[in-house]
Amino acid sequence: RTVYVNGDYLPEDQATVSIFDRGFLMSDGVYEVVSVLDSKLLDFGGHIVRLKRSLAELQMDNPLSDDEYLDVHRQLIEKNDITDGLVYLQVTRGNPGDRDFAFPPAGTRPTVVMFTQSNPGLADNPAAKTGWKIISVEDLRWGRRDIKTVQLLYPSLAKMEAKARGVNDAWLVEDGKVTEGTSNNAYIVKGNTIITRALSNDILHGITRAAVLRFANEAQMKVEERSFTIDEAQNADEAFVTSASAFVMPVVEIDGAAVGDGKVGAVATRLREIYLDEMRKAAV
Ligand code: PMP
Repeated sequence: RTVYVNGDYLPEDQATVSIFDRGFLMSDGVYEVVSVLDSKLLDFGGHIVRLKRSLAELQMDNPLSDDEYLDVHRQLIEKNDITDGLVYLQVTRGNPGDRDFAFPPAGTRPTVVMFTQSNPGLADNPAAKTGWKIISVEDLRWGRRDIKTVQLLYPSLAKMEAKARGVNDAWLVEDGKVTEGTSNNAYIVKGNTIITRALSNDILHGITRAAVLRFANEAQMKVEERSFTIDEAQNADEAFVTSASAFVMPVVEIDGAAVGDGKVGAVATRLREIYLDEMRKAAV
């Protein structure tokens, strides 16, 4: 595989970053994941807007222009012959030469890394037909989950617990209310109403969430942005999650209790279809 690091395209085993990079020492970095279908990028513009917001919130310089990011994404897709899959993009604060809690002096060059992951048939994931089972765990992450940092240890622990318990993922719960999934935004459906937590520093502002809520509104579905409990979710008609790589993924079981009739719901199925149709049309 050919990867990108700080302006160079290199075979993956020749691409290196410093052991002093603050991304490595302090998780001082942000990232984005953009899905690729038919060799084109889904919602690229949305992801770049969020990347710049994440960088600004951490007072980190933005090392590349929007066009440069797009060019690297396209070159990696081409060089690696990606039809379906993703492009991962990471910007860390770089290498100040010594370990120090304080940020390095202005002008320290951020480290930019991008690589592809191939995933043939990504849009035809059979799991979308059967749905995910999930568990709930306490949300013990830090308080700025709106910034897409590479500090992913707690979500990894939650995923491992889900795995150990034989399910697909975990929803995180704080003060009795669901915040989001380990790597996705969480929704329930009651009657014709789609319910999802409102945006705040408590959750990542999902790019897929924004698109799906826009499509739901355009399709005259009702949307309520508010928090909900696991109990309410278990008693809902449907549940689902959204993310750039899972798109719209139905959830059919929560902590061992079936959601609705335990089958993939009509609303989640329709939203997935609309999302994939619209995103393919607008892909760059
Ligand atoms: N929440 C969290 C915690 C995530 O990690 C992700 C995926 N990066 C999402 C939500 C979904 O965001 P997006 O739709 O932009 O992929």
